Amino acid sequence: MIDEDILACYMQAGEIAKKCRDHAAGMVKPGQKIVELVDTVEQEILDEGGLIAFPLNISRNADAAHDTAGPGDEREFMAGDVVKVDMGVHIDGYVADTAVTVDLGENNLLVEASAAALKRAISLVRPGVSTGELGAAIHDEITGRGYLPIANLTGHGLGQYRLHGSPTIPNIGIKGGTIIEEDMVFAIEPFASTGSGHVSNSQRTEIFGQIALKPVRLASAKKVIAEVRDRHSLPFARRWLTGNKIDIALSSLRKSGVIHGYPVLHDIPGSLVSQAEHTVIVTADGCIVTTR
Ligand code: MN
Ligand code: MN
Repeated sequence: MIDEDILACYMQAGEIAKKCRDHAAGMVKPGQKIVELVDTVEQEILDEGGLIAFPLNISRNADAAHDTAGPGDEREFMAGDVVKVDMGVHIDGYVADTAVTVDLGENNLLVEASAAALKRAISLVRPGVSTGELGAAIHDEITGRGYLPIANLTGHGLGQYRLHGSPTIPNIGIKGGTIIEEDMVFAIEPFASTGSGHVSNSQRTEIFGQIALKPVRLASAKKVIAEVRDRHSLPFARRWLTGNKIDIALSSLRKSGVIHGYPVLHDIPGSLVSQAEHTVIVTADGCIVTTR
């Protein structure tokens, strides 16, 4: 059995993430500025008593993941957009990771494909099942609806202050995989695409994470590291940083291997991608979904 106090943290994080995710999704409307949405909802996470596990991801259309507003971002939602809202909340490092897709056009079948795949995968989770079986179910559900799952994005294990641990939950059928055990905590996140089913890095990077503790000389870089120190290596947004020469500082920190950049991940131009995600805790005979 998972420790009672840790379970309580996961459950509280899940409650807050669910509420704030749904509020964020409700704000996705044509003409809404993206920066206003992310600033509002990130503050709401704090007001609800949670902490931000990663910047609120808002990724549109062919962009599958890792976009968020930049400082002074002028972008607004437009009619026709397929908008992924992906949120991470933690309590004492115990993370709830959850996402929904909002359709501002006529792509409800695409949105349903990832949601149905998630639902089916969750229904299969129990000790003894392999992650390969979950991937096969996701693949089957999405391809059966005429779309492709994104093969190089996966669900992932969660631990205290650890966002991307084992097991990996594939979105395609793989041989073998990891056997699921009681008390495992992981996020399942199917992506359905009208494109190639593979994502690659775009030029845009708004999200970063510290990956090493190394002495830093540049004053602006020192300031960035001081500002993100209490994140325990959890990702941060460029938008959160204050002061001057932030881009020079980030670039220097990346070159010296102190931080890692998470570029926006996109499928081919003109394609549309939907995503659905929940966090689960495996029990003796199934799982608890903390974010539903
Ligand atoms: Mn997520
Ligand atoms: Mn995730």
